[in-house]
Amino acid sequence: MDRLKKIAIIGLGLIGSSIAHATRRGRLAAEIAGHDASKDVVERARILGFCDSLHDDVATAVKNADLVILCTPVGAYKSVAREIAPHLKAGAILSDVGSVKGAVVRDIGPFVPQKVHFIPAHPIAGTEFSGPEAGFASLFDGRWTILTPVKGSDPEAVQRLKTFWQALGSQVDVMNAGHHDLVLAIVSHLPHLIAYNIVGTAHDLEKVTQGEVIKYSASGFRDFTRIAASDPTMWRDVFLNNRDAVLEVLGRFNEDLSQLQRAVRNGDGKTLFDWFTRTRAVRRAIVEIGQDTPSFGRLPFQVYVPPKKDGKKPGKKKSTARKKSSPQTRVKIRAKTKRPRAK
Ligand code: NAP
Repeated sequence: MDRLKKIAIIGLGLIGSSIAHATRRGRLAAEIAGHDASKDVVERARILGFCDSLHDDVATAVKNADLVILCTPVGAYKSVAREIAPHLKAGAILSDVGSVKGAVVRDIGPFVPQKVHFIPAHPIAGTEFSGPEAGFASLFDGRWTILTPVKGSDPEAVQRLKTFWQALGSQVDVMNAGHHDLVLAIVSHLPHLIAYNIVGTAHDLEKVTQGEVIKYSASGFRDFTRIAASDPTMWRDVFLNNRDAVLEVLGRFNEDLSQLQRAVRNGDGKTLFDWFTRTRAVRRAIVEIGQDTPSFGRLPFQVYVPPKKDGKKPGKKKSTARKKSSPQTRVKIRAKTKRPRAK
């Protein structure tokens, strides 16, 4: 693809920083500009060094950018779109990474200037970690990104965005926003709701202390806790903005759960066995097409340790810093490791 002169990334958490790392890895833009509402995040991004320019002001971040990608929680899109709209370059592509798409079209669409191409997008890639330290260049490798062009989207601009995501390492599909929201409700939103529920229920159970829940957690429960550690702000916004589709699949889920409940109560081994055989085949199909790899969602994380109180960056002697973007990248500023926040 033609190298972009400038890409602007708004929101420098897991997804925003990963786009920056992957853009740099592929030399896809001459300038990677970044902005985040949090000054602390901007400062951490400065230390991590994945942007060429960082801006406290969102308007200067998007100025002259060929591609602007919103990477904040979906609930912030409307106010960000309102603020950046007058500063977008004619011919620029305005996109996002939000996990819901109908609400994004509703919230951003009205602010998009006539000569700007608005093309929503969603990379189906992530981990349960948040923040700029959590990002890494290979997050999108081999994963899917869904583009949901709006009515009247310029096909040439859609193709340019598709090529960009492919250059980030992703496979790309195009569909309408409503279909996206239904598909994601079943493959992503409902599993998260179930994980939040089962971990919450286990935590509430009076007879099982929290200590025992943690001590005896078998791998099944542990996997749920990984999903249930996902960012509360992001997931609150997902459920507030994909209500209809989530309620539709939740209704179906409850019917199926009742069927399983009946089979357990009645000692109906055949129903249980047939059911579990069918679901095992689904798992095998996912592994066969390479959509589960040992590293998926379980990569080592980058480490952020704030500068010393005297204002100096952490001393070189203690530093094992490697600021290269690679799947194994860890920015170890001091030897002591610290998990990025799972908010
Ligand atoms: P994240 O790590 O929490 O990063 C979001 C960043 O945006 C935070 O630094 C946040 O600052 C900042 N922010 C909030 N409001 C802002 C505003 N008005 N202007 C500028 N910056 C703002 O979240 P993430 O996981 O990268 O998710 C970002 C987006 O990606 C969401 O829309 C989500 O739906 C989508 N997505 C996430 C995943 C995933 O697995 N995580 C996968 C695919 C798509 P504060 O922390 O100070 O609020």
